[in-house]
Amino acid sequence: MEKSGSDIIRKFLEAGIELSVENAGLMDEMIVFLQAYCQKVNLTAIRDREGIIEKHLIDSVLPLTFMDLPGDSLCLDIGTGAGFPAVPMMILRRDLEFTLLDAQRKRTDYLTQLVDRLGLKAEIIHGRAEELGRQPRYKHRYDMVTARAVADPVTLLGYAGPLLKKGGVFIAMRGSRDEMNDEVKRGVFKHGFKLLKEIRYNIPSGDGRRLIVFLKQ
Ligand code: SAM
Repeated sequence: MEKSGSDIIRKFLEAGIELSVENAGLMDEMIVFLQAYCQKVNLTAIRDREGIIEKHLIDSVLPLTFMDLPGDSLCLDIGTGAGFPAVPMMILRRDLEFTLLDAQRKRTDYLTQLVDRLGLKAEIIHGRAEELGRQPRYKHRYDMVTARAVADPVTLLGYAGPLLKKGGVFIAMRGSRDEMNDEVKRGVFKHGFKLLKEIRYNIPSGDGRRLIVFLKQ
């Protein structure tokens, strides 16, 4: 029987990410808690350990390896679901201050328990991104906004625009399909962004990914 978390360390290393024993332990706890919770509440279709490691945990943190995110950045994850990509990012970068936002109560209830179990700190909000951006407390507050598997790029740019500071970045975590069509290019301009970079890579399972980074102007 493998020592708890050693399979996680190995898989992360295959993806080029070195994980401490402590952080592997937290990732392991996250998997065990997610699997147990999903027996009662449907939070994700990916429930096998290997799938969670590759398609949730590693997929969530790979964007950090392509970016030079300053310490103590204020970050918001729109439509975080069961905490992806935010919670694995928080485990790797304890200095980041995350807000976890989701429109579904069952997900924010889960996140409250998860964050507490892992001994992490985050603001957890049950609500919609388009409404949060209208509240003075959250308007132009964030250095980085992330979103994985939430909506189309133009809708997401509309959500992220009011929430980001000038000079902040919106990180769209997408599948392998090229989505930078004319409609998206118009959306970039309309919502006050500039396309900073687009990075193509594969996660260990071989699935293709695109990371599109937009700069708020
Ligand atoms: N980001 C997670 C992931 O990659 O596993 C969850 C993806 S899940 C397919 C989409 C999530 O976005 C759902 O939990 C849904 O409640 C949330 N969502 C969709 N539209 C939203 C909005 N306008 N504001 C906040 N959350 C939203």
